[in-house]
Amino acid sequence: MVQKVKKVPLRQCIACRTKKTKREMVRIVRDPQGKLLLDLKGKLPGRGAYICVSGDCLRKATIDHLFARHLDAKPEAELLTELENLIGDNPD
Ligand SMILES: [Zn+2]
Repeated sequence: MVQKVKKVPLRQCIACRTKKTKREMVRIVRDPQGKLLLDLKGKLPGRGAYICVSGDCLRKATIDHLFARHLDAKPEAELLTELENLIGDNPD
């Protein structure tokens, strides 16, 4: 029997540049007004960037202004807090 290999699309983290599956990452989307949103369901339209669910990657992205660089918009404090809450507890 031939086993079918299911192809899983990979996304690249903006901080560490590792490629992972979507479910291991968080998507940030820029809405039409230029506001950055946390896209937990991965369904929001707009330009998006992915980041690992990792405190290290979040710190790097914040310090190096990677959200601004990749999405042309500055994340609001509120978004960063949401991300911290989501990622913060994750040991990695
Ligand atoms: Zn990463």
